[in-house]
Amino acid sequence: MPVPEHGQFIGGAAKPVGGPSIEVEDPAAQRVIATVADGGPDDVDRAVGAARAAFGRWAATSPADRAALLRRVAKLLEDRREEIAQLVTAELGAPIRISRSVHAQLPITVTSTTADLLASRPFAEQLGNSLVVQQPVGVVAAITPWNFPMHQVTSKVVPALAAGASVVLKPSELAPLSALLLAEVLTDAGLPDGVFNVVTGGPAAGRALVDHDDVDLVSFTGSVEVGRAVAAAAARTVKRVTLELGGKSASLVLPDADIPTAVKVSVANAFFNSGQACNAWTRMLVPVDELERVNELALAAAAKHAVGDPADDGTRMGPVISDRQRERVREFIRTGLSEGARLLVGGEVPPDGVDRGYFVRPTVFTDVDPASTIAQEEIFGPVLSIIGYQDEDHAVEIANGTRYGLGGSVWSQDTDRAVRVAQRIRTGQVDVNGAPFNPAAPFGGFKFSGYGRELGVHGMAEYLETQSIQLPAAGG
Ligand code: NAD
Repeated sequence: MPVPEHGQFIGGAAKPVGGPSIEVEDPAAQRVIATVADGGPDDVDRAVGAARAAFGRWAATSPADRAALLRRVAKLLEDRREEIAQLVTAELGAPIRISRSVHAQLPITVTSTTADLLASRPFAEQLGNSLVVQQPVGVVAAITPWNFPMHQVTSKVVPALAAGASVVLKPSELAPLSALLLAEVLTDAGLPDGVFNVVTGGPAAGRALVDHDDVDLVSFTGSVEVGRAVAAAAARTVKRVTLELGGKSASLVLPDADIPTAVKVSVANAFFNSGQACNAWTRMLVPVDELERVNELALAAAAKHAVGDPADDGTRMGPVISDRQRERVREFIRTGLSEGARLLVGGEVPPDGVDRGYFVRPTVFTDVDPASTIAQEEIFGPVLSIIGYQDEDHAVEIANGTRYGLGGSVWSQDTDRAVRVAQRIRTGQVDVNGAPFNPAAPFGGFKFSGYGRELGVHGMAEYLETQSIQLPAAGG
């Protein structure tokens, strides 16, 4: 059966493929499910031209009109929720249950939350004799990775549109299909042609966007290495840049915590999305005299995360995204062993009974040296490191002892103590006792995890320029 072919989405219309293309693979079935155009500088130039042409009229719309459009978008995403869930399961390999509850749900939540904030957010204030107004930044280039293919896209596109900016999106070449579905939804919601454009492709398309003279801001999510290159390239044209990069977050379990709950939730967090989450708690820090008890609890928790067919309702863990990613994860597992960490469960051999798909066994190491490779580097696979600490100061030192600063958690029966410890952790977000995700709270990193924030009013502010208009004295 022929697979669907997708061209670029520019100026409100899907273009014919007509040129080089990229195969999109289902990582569980190892089957090509679609092809997308492999865009280059010409496609980028057309898309940026369309976004620039549409910008003025879109920037002049009222916040109330933009909020109304976003409400229609949220409704259409809701109507197509099952289709989005199936698409993300196909392109990413996420278990269908998680695709429904997270990958398809988060974009709806983020869109409706942004619509609510937009309706109440002031875009001007009087400061002495100045009128200080917030102006949309212009043409935004959004460059996204594959691990939350719809959520990462909406976390950029929705606040940018809310601010009155126009957008050219370059989704990951590994999972670009849900981004193309978003283009349909935005069109159906009545977004004017050219305000949102999608250029599919790989690094060449990304580089052309970052380098384009008529792009005002680049919002990038991805690896540290590429983020660094993006910031350096954007400097030539003095573009604003926001970077959401990797992480090596710690779940810090204080001695007075409910340890069984903390271990169970921390293991689930580390394995969520096959460990392919930038803010995954990939290190669990526990009092050294609790290590043996924690090991047993972690073993029991890990047993509940067996890999399986993502299409089955009962599956909790699917494959990783690609053969290359699986090899990278296996290499880290080998390095963990060679550097002396104790393997509790998992390992580099494929899971039993699996003859297809890029599956990795859920893997837990214990007695991990906090300075070792697996405790320092982002693995982006289902690999958890358990580390013992002596006292609270030591635990905070380990938590802060990587180049990253994205997420983490603190567990204690004393919430005030947990909040005090949370404030000593140099990361953009910390969850106390497994508290839930807040779609209105700013999301972003310290240190090598990047700069700038997404979501809520802080996320929208990234897409605004501040302008001061000085007013003459009355009668002057
Ligand atoms: P990646 O850096 O390889 O690619 C990200 C995007 O950048 C892709 O769309 C890619 O095509 C594009 N790209 C590649 N080279 C480019 C260049 N020179 N110029 C412009 N664009 C270029 O990352 P990935 O493998 O897709 O995603 C995994 C990484 O993303 C992990 O390191 C993870 O931590 C990070 N991530 C961070 C967050 C966050 O919010 N902080 C969220 C998810 C993923």
